[in-house]
Amino acid sequence: MSAAARAAVAASAARADEVNAGADGLNIFAWRDDADAIAQADAAPDGPLAGLPVAVKDNIATRTLPTTCGSRILRGYVSPYESTVVARLRAAGGVVFGKTNMDEFAMGSSTEHSAYGPTRNPLAPDRVPGGSSGGSAAAVAAGIVRVALGSETGGSVRQPAALCGVVGVKPTYGRVSRYGLVAFASSLDQVGVFGATVDDAALALGAIAGRDPRDATSVDVPVPDYRAAADRPLAGVVIGKPREYFPSDLEPRLRERCDRALDLFRAAGAEIRDVSLPHTALAIPVYYIVAPAEASSNLARFDGVRYGLRLDGDGLRGMYEATRSGGFGPEVTRRIMLGTYVLSAGYYDAYYRKAQQVRRLITQDFDRAFTSGVHLLFTPTTPTPAFPIGATTDPYEMYLNDIFTATANLAGVPAMSQPIGRVDGLPVGGQLIAPHFAEDRMFAAAFALERALGPEAAR
Ligand code: GLN
Repeated sequence: MSAAARAAVAASAARADEVNAGADGLNIFAWRDDADAIAQADAAPDGPLAGLPVAVKDNIATRTLPTTCGSRILRGYVSPYESTVVARLRAAGGVVFGKTNMDEFAMGSSTEHSAYGPTRNPLAPDRVPGGSSGGSAAAVAAGIVRVALGSETGGSVRQPAALCGVVGVKPTYGRVSRYGLVAFASSLDQVGVFGATVDDAALALGAIAGRDPRDATSVDVPVPDYRAAADRPLAGVVIGKPREYFPSDLEPRLRERCDRALDLFRAAGAEIRDVSLPHTALAIPVYYIVAPAEASSNLARFDGVRYGLRLDGDGLRGMYEATRSGGFGPEVTRRIMLGTYVLSAGYYDAYYRKAQQVRRLITQDFDRAFTSGVHLLFTPTTPTPAFPIGATTDPYEMYLNDIFTATANLAGVPAMSQPIGRVDGLPVGGQLIAPHFAEDRMFAAAFALERALGPEAAR
């Protein structure tokens, strides 16, 4: 066992070095320790992951490598404890191969906003890999690992999965423990998985899912064998096509890829039904109130006293100011200011309370669809394929990347992206959305579509 595991780690390391070489290296990893990975491989227990190297996003706590959230403010921070997801990976035989680059504190859709510089898309190195879990998506797309962990608050696993041509899953809120995931927006955050194939993603989710007494929001719902969903027929399954996710100005070739996927679902025995989720357009405005509000509170702990960076200033207050101004990048600073504003007296009712009310309407859209005989929804994952590095300078334009993904985070429902073909030579993703805790149903359809598209799905 350990010889094979060692060989797998060595192959990952060789590939990671290869794609990082030269001036346009992909810059996928923030932290690696190959000697430690070999030692883990030697000691890896038998289990479903059996020596498999896994890439882990830099906001998921590991005892053996730094956990810095792509931020200067966490420079040098090594967690004294391990996240539950990483503990479960190791218990299942997985090897932590490295920590992946990300948008600072998971705020972004391009992995350009990292203290370590941008990650490049392995399929088109002048383009972004998506974000914020861009390093994890790229690690799988570049063939370094088959499985990676990321995190989702508004689309940070599904969007980079789509842009890199791999599979990405955001589980139900509560399906996976958040213990040891550095908090961004606690009512939305969830650890997600990347896989080179649907089966790899099913394997990874199975290893980390389930109730954890250390996370009170994790739920005690039995974890089915997601890989077994591969054998489940689609006959009788009703897949809804929500009209709000197919606007008239949708990129025509992306629409064509989605229509082809829907035809293949139909050919596999599913029924396709037009549905409406009328509050979809409100998801981005609501998300950009709720997420920054929670972030402004969660990020208050980074004050130079307990973790990472400390910059001197005049007195205690001066130290706080210097540390926070010098430690956080511009996007994180913008979110903290936005969040502080919408929570402040006089604006709370107009913004935060209103956003919570509209969030409820978005959740009810899904409830209504899923109680009207629709089992799953299918949509494009993103409005466009990967965009060039440096091209998106307007924050609002960047936020619109999540227009088809943030809804599932707001409602807490599971969703996943898988490759459905290419536009201009770049991969695009199709998204399946399921009712709470029905990940297995989502996987059954994803397996069927992957089979029907064949190995050329990403071409
Ligand atoms: N792109 C979104 C944001 O910037 C979502 C990020 C995420 O899911 N972590 O907030």
